[in-house]
Amino acid sequence: MNCDILSTLYVKSNGEILCNDDFGERVSLGSCRQSADDPDIHQTLNNDRYQNIREALKNDRTPWPEVCENCSFFRPDEPYSNDLLQKRIIQKIQIEASLACALKCPECSNLIQIKTRSGGRHFTPEMMADLLGDLKENHYQIRSIEYCGQGEPLNNPRFPELLATARKIYPDTLQRVITNGNHDFAKAINSEYVEETVVSIDGAFQESYEKYRVKGSITKAFKFLNDAIACQKPKGGIVVWKYVLFETNDSERELLEAQRLGDEFGVTRLWFVHSHTGNRSKKYTYDNPHTIPIQYSNVKIDSHPSYFRHAITIIPDEFPHKITGNDSIKCMIAVDRVVIHENGSINISGWANSQTKLSHVTLEIEDQKVGDLAFVVRRPDAGELYPVFSEVLCGFDSLLPPSAVSIKPGQVMNFHLCSDKENIATFALDPQ
Ligand code: SF4
Repeated sequence: MNCDILSTLYVKSNGEILCNDDFGERVSLGSCRQSADDPDIHQTLNNDRYQNIREALKNDRTPWPEVCENCSFFRPDEPYSNDLLQKRIIQKIQIEASLACALKCPECSNLIQIKTRSGGRHFTPEMMADLLGDLKENHYQIRSIEYCGQGEPLNNPRFPELLATARKIYPDTLQRVITNGNHDFAKAINSEYVEETVVSIDGAFQESYEKYRVKGSITKAFKFLNDAIACQKPKGGIVVWKYVLFETNDSERELLEAQRLGDEFGVTRLWFVHSHTGNRSKKYTYDNPHTIPIQYSNVKIDSHPSYFRHAITIIPDEFPHKITGNDSIKCMIAVDRVVIHENGSINISGWANSQTKLSHVTLEIEDQKVGDLAFVVRRPDAGELYPVFSEVLCGFDSLLPPSAVSIKPGQVMNFHLCSDKENIATFALDPQ
């Protein structure tokens, strides 16, 4: 039994540390320090609440009965892991930069939270400096910081200072902003570098967009998206258009228009996401992901975490790997994450490159082909290792449809690095 909370940290705008941003918000696990006498972060991560989670999951018990069963981050089928404490690795710190928001999306808990939560509405750079400084002193590695919560992060008037503070203390940690984009880019981000900017624009036309994004302006959101592309992409940043599929925005015409616009703007990726709400698209669902009309290779299909309950997530320990292929060709491959879904599909992200130009990577399990991974994402992190890698699209991030091969956790996955039809090297990932 497992749960994301043992590899992530979720911090609210008022400094509370909660049990993830879903049903887990009912459970408080601690708080950022208000004074020097308060427990430091390592003590918090060892307190009785965290110990309850670890002991329960390790022994196949539900940590918080009647809460976890309803929580999107519960993984009853996944083997227990505890990177947070054993390795002092935090895969993601999720910071609710602000609880304020100008939009009124009907399924959002923002209004209830504003009425019921006490304390600050904006996470401050001082709180950020103290939290990250404390983690640093306690030798924690942080893989990513994500600004997202039950409010709009860019409503925090000191948002650029948050980015700058994190950059100063953890310069190599990836920062990701998830925003509704109804903001002036220059004011909200200033000149700060953001590795991943995700702009939530659920629709290609104002009439359908505003049915969910009530009070939102698609013109403003498109302007923000274009400014982010102009400002962040040349620095190596990734800019994603996130499009949640509702009944009100799932006509074929609109999905094709979104792809055309995304291509015209130059987004790195366009994600179509299955929602779990009552107004979710009934035409395109988690069970039929490949019926969505797709015309561009940078489109990715994803799902709300609640669909991942019976999924198994594998995060390989060390990356990237150097391998030597046929004719002594030198190659590199990094597999960031593999998610094996209950419906048999498999999500894989990572990158590969070699001395010879690669065309794709083929995934094979037990000598049977599962599918091909296309290079569709630039990977600035690969470029940092070898600047020449910045020039090529070497990242893959694909959802492979259910295949004839039944994939089970623990099986060795063979990644064949291919140049056209020829396999030039193989990397075997053994999740054990
Ligand atoms: S599943 Fe349970 S332990 Fe995990 S985040 Fe949700 S409430 Fe917390």
